[in-house]
Amino acid sequence: MMNENRDAMHAHPKAPALPAAPAVLISEVGPRDGLQSVRAVMPTAHKLAWIDALHASGLREIEVGSFVPARTLPQMADVAEVVRHAIALPGWTVMALVPNLRGAQAALQAGVHKLTIPASASEAHSLANVRRSRAEMVAVVREVVALRDAVAPGVPVEIGMSTAFGCTLQGAVPDDEVVWLAEQLAQAGVDEIGLSDTTGMANPVQVRRLFQRVRAAIGDKTGSAHLHNTRGLGLANCLAAWDVGVRTFDASLGGLGGCPYAPGASGNVVTEDLVFMFEAMGVATGVDLGRLIAAREALKAGLPGEALYGFNLSFGMA
Ligand code: ZN
Repeated sequence: MMNENRDAMHAHPKAPALPAAPAVLISEVGPRDGLQSVRAVMPTAHKLAWIDALHASGLREIEVGSFVPARTLPQMADVAEVVRHAIALPGWTVMALVPNLRGAQAALQAGVHKLTIPASASEAHSLANVRRSRAEMVAVVREVVALRDAVAPGVPVEIGMSTAFGCTLQGAVPDDEVVWLAEQLAQAGVDEIGLSDTTGMANPVQVRRLFQRVRAAIGDKTGSAHLHNTRGLGLANCLAAWDVGVRTFDASLGGLGGCPYAPGASGNVVTEDLVFMFEAMGVATGVDLGRLIAAREALKAGLPGEALYGFNLSFGMA
């Protein structure tokens, strides 16, 4: 890596200095993954204030909601309004989750910068979660890509491959099946495929191995690491993914959400902890940790009484 940089400098000795781009991209998923996992419905005004606070911290990517029927997830009934608010804030990528063509149409109409589609590596989870087999889900993805190509060719489509590291319904998910599904989805025309530890079953050796295998199969279409802290391995798993070249990480402020079936257990990796880890390592995130921690107040105001997670937040912050 160092030698490459040196060669590049010699090749372009007079290239103007550009502001340093973040070395890792932290993608905040709290307003989607977090809110859909809690029972309470956050009032829209509180959601918008929370999103403003997240933006002010320097985050450059956010998943703001899901385009699903309000009767399925009342927490997401205001998603179009939330998208319109978020896209008016400068300098970040606003994503929304869309489970099908109808959701994708609504999301593109609202003006999202990027679509994310959930696809389960586990057949049992796919049938339970979206009532479709994996092969049927690949067909849905093809439809969404065709729509994107027709009406919004600049909008990337990302897959969040859930249960890639294991499934509470069927147990182990063989690596070969994850690689197979990644290849199918890449062929369907998506731009990125991230791997999600939906059930918090991953370990660092597995994370390294699976990201390497997926990268060998689909190259630069390998996307984000969406890792959970259900069993305390969230940061270790993020570091393992970083070790093998992953540079985009999903995380949730206060660790909100991610584990609807285990009340009291933390789910998503805590954004604050993740930013702290990378910054301490000298890896730039572009996020101001103090402002990020301050954004917890906006989250608490909108969801009073909800448990939030994170280590040693007060250390060194005075
Ligand atoms: Zn999650």
